[in-house]
Amino acid sequence: MHRKGIVAGRSDADHRDRGQDGLAAPRRALLRWYRRHYRRLPWRAAPGGRSNPYHVLVSEAMLQQTQVATVIEYFQRFVARWPTVEALTQADEQQVLRAWQGLGYYRRAKNLLAAAKMIVQKHRGRVPNRVELLLQLPGVGRYTAGAIASIAFGKREPILDGNVARVLARWHGIHEPIDSAATRERLWELAGQMVRRSRARAGDVNQAMMELGATVCAPQNPRCQACPVSAWCRARQLRLTDRIPLAARRPTPRTVEHHIVAVRCGEERLFCQRPQTGLWSRMWQLPTLETEPNPPSTNKTPRSGNPRSPGSDPPNPSEKDHSDLRMIKASLRRWASSSLGLQIGKTRLVGGFVHKTTHRSIHFSVWDVLVRDGDQAGVAGVWRRLDDVEDLPLPNPQRRAVAMLKHADAP
Ligand code: SF4
Repeated sequence: MHRKGIVAGRSDADHRDRGQDGLAAPRRALLRWYRRHYRRLPWRAAPGGRSNPYHVLVSEAMLQQTQVATVIEYFQRFVARWPTVEALTQADEQQVLRAWQGLGYYRRAKNLLAAAKMIVQKHRGRVPNRVELLLQLPGVGRYTAGAIASIAFGKREPILDGNVARVLARWHGIHEPIDSAATRERLWELAGQMVRRSRARAGDVNQAMMELGATVCAPQNPRCQACPVSAWCRARQLRLTDRIPLAARRPTPRTVEHHIVAVRCGEERLFCQRPQTGLWSRMWQLPTLETEPNPPSTNKTPRSGNPRSPGSDPPNPSEKDHSDLRMIKASLRRWASSSLGLQIGKTRLVGGFVHKTTHRSIHFSVWDVLVRDGDQAGVAGVWRRLDDVEDLPLPNPQRRAVAMLKHADAP
């Protein structure tokens, strides 16, 4: 993947980068390090090159909240199936969600499809190269716009993601919480200084900063002895690498309970589509009763319509006592009758697990529930065997529930 003429050592850009900004020397060191150590990734051009704008758009959407190692395979499958923006616009949302299944944060997939449609309608199928136009695309924020503009088009636009923010905060010895609005602005300014007044390739500088944060300047135990900017790093000089960056306190995730009511008729289970908006919108699931968020000072009084209070019960519902289980089963029967129009019979707890999102800690319980043959007519949804759901986009916890049910059904 190396471009011809690019070798580890000084390039023309290094010689040109005499910079009037006082950053020329660390930037040169950074770029030298990047040329030697960059990871070969399917969406990334070799240093000195420019990446395919569509590939940058897709990869940046996938990389939000997700590790590089996880994304690689998804990215390759995605661009093999939809190799261009135009090709992606021919897909329907369910197909894209299905291809995204397992990556989580499905809003990214919906936004990506909407962005592709806008690119075709407004930009004749070409990903725009200006930040102000990129920012109009669904799901594209300041970071992604800067990444596409610099990495795919060579524009002198900065980027600031979690990795870059950590590197800059340590490098410049910034003690304030990096999540505060004022500090974010300062970090954007510093990121801008890295690319705006230099003749070095902005895309390489930005990717080098991200790579440094991802592989050397880790949140814990940064490898400063391997760092190309260690000679300029204030946090290292002050021995504060374990204190910087200071993160803002995050609110405690709210606890909610979801009861998966895996209704079975013969060999088939009922799957329903989720509502048009909200968490996992328009994806598919086994019928699920969701409780309201648990307020901080909650007591054991159940909310209306809830099977019971979430309270501070242990995550594994099998640990509940018999009276608890009887109460829950009665609530599930009432809910199935009113929400699904089904009279459910034998109800068995298969297991439970906790699924964490940014704002919620969701305690799932999975119930194997029987209905009589003939009762399923007219129920909204589709009836499928558990090994025949490949075309249904299922959120991760629902896939986990399906796996648990298969395991429970196994002889
Ligand atoms: S010297 Fe250490 S703390 Fe400073 S930027 Fe490099 S890896 Fe991070």
